[in-house]
Amino acid sequence: MSDPLDMAQDVEERDRAGAVAAALRPLHGHGLMSCEACGEEIPAARRQALPSARRCVRCQAEHERGI
Ligand SMILES: [Zn+2]
Repeated sequence: MSDPLDMAQDVEERDRAGAVAAALRPLHGHGLMSCEACGEEIPAARRQALPSARRCVRCQAEHERGI
């Protein structure tokens, strides 16, 4: 078993590294360039704000409402 404190530190370091990488390489995050639901391009601002976004704002809203 890992020490929970070590794990928390790991997560924190990964988050920080991810935030830095996202800031430095906005076009190379792990998000998609286009919405996986409708294929529309996801705006760069949205990809930067939420690198893990896989859908455009509209599709994400529908997804969250369970449509
Ligand atoms: Zn969409």
